[in-house]
Amino acid sequence: MIVERCSNCMDIQKVIDFYDIHKLGPVPTILEVSEIEDLYLTKCPNCKEVLKEVAYFIEDKSDFISTVAPEIGEELSKEIAGCQSCNSDIIPYTQIYGDPSDLENAGSLLEENGFSVWTGNSKDELASVILENLYCSTCNSSFSDDDPYVTEWEKSNWYGDFQEEKEILDKVFNISEDEANSFIEHLINYPMLALHHKIGQKIYDSIKYNELDLTKILKPEIVFYRGRTRKKRERLATFIPEELWNPPKALSSQGRFNFAGVSTLYLADNLQILRDELSLDDEEESMDVAEFKILKPLRIFDLTGNNSSLFSNMSPESPRDIIKREYVFPNFIAQCLMILGYNGIGYDSVKGEGKNYCFFSFTKNHDITIERVISHQEIEQILLF
Ligand SMILES: [Zn+2]
Ligand SMILES: [Zn+2]
Repeated sequence: MIVERCSNCMDIQKVIDFYDIHKLGPVPTILEVSEIEDLYLTKCPNCKEVLKEVAYFIEDKSDFISTVAPEIGEELSKEIAGCQSCNSDIIPYTQIYGDPSDLENAGSLLEENGFSVWTGNSKDELASVILENLYCSTCNSSFSDDDPYVTEWEKSNWYGDFQEEKEILDKVFNISEDEANSFIEHLINYPMLALHHKIGQKIYDSIKYNELDLTKILKPEIVFYRGRTRKKRERLATFIPEELWNPPKALSSQGRFNFAGVSTLYLADNLQILRDELSLDDEEESMDVAEFKILKPLRIFDLTGNNSSLFSNMSPESPRDIIKREYVFPNFIAQCLMILGYNGIGYDSVKGEGKNYCFFSFTKNHDITIERVISHQEIEQILLF
């Protein structure tokens, strides 16, 4: 019996483990030492280890590789649900707008399973042949070391995690889940051409013709609040009114209701909600609040009572992205409202009983003004009663 490699000079164990984890049955072409008859006489011709000291051996190395590599490759290919040739959203989007290193690639898939193609300058023969046996489950394309791929999970989540958007589309605009999926997919790919999609047109029309009956006029004299926290140790003085307005246009990054460079004013209708929304750290921070007063009737799109967190959850899921995918839908709604003459939008606070407003179209001190600044001490006193 001729032996070419033993488990002393070749890492056979990782192949055995792989077959075990993936329930592929016994590994073909690997023999156990107990299967050798003249144990004491036989040494591994490669490393000279006496075979009785090792656990497994291989009779023919190239036969071993050409047998197990395609099986391992086939198993790993199940992970690959899309590649550069067939995926037209996640891969190009991440490469252009995101961080390409966020994408999975063929080399790392092998590595995670113990089969590194390169160790320093030496190329692993088994891993290289496994790589040759990787293919895309969707289009059958083959892979090089650093070619990206996407998993089934990523594919289903790319368009599938827009639950809040779908809820709003369903509850407010009466749009089915299939239509919502198709529209959100369109919005992500063509954010500037939302009205090119029939659902975009339907939403626009339903706002324009007030079919939803969600228009509300905020009358002059109504009061709202906007707060800002400051570190007690760093600044003692109460903020002045100018410091409590929304940020200037040039400093505004993209938010739920605005593209970058468009400034919006977020206000709350009561002090307790505001305090909760700012999650004030009592030890370290103070909070000053500006009391805003409406001067002219303001037209708002009133989503209060819909219990949706879509418009109130302000933290982006992936702050690294330049264009935030989760904002494309609220951005679209805000643009429809702006062009149709709405000053803002109203929604429920997720922090408790109260309403929040976002104004994206107003003239400072003409439509709305700061009536006074309420200091931290005053706020605490007011809230006590
Ligand atoms: Zn050996
Ligand atoms: Zn493919």
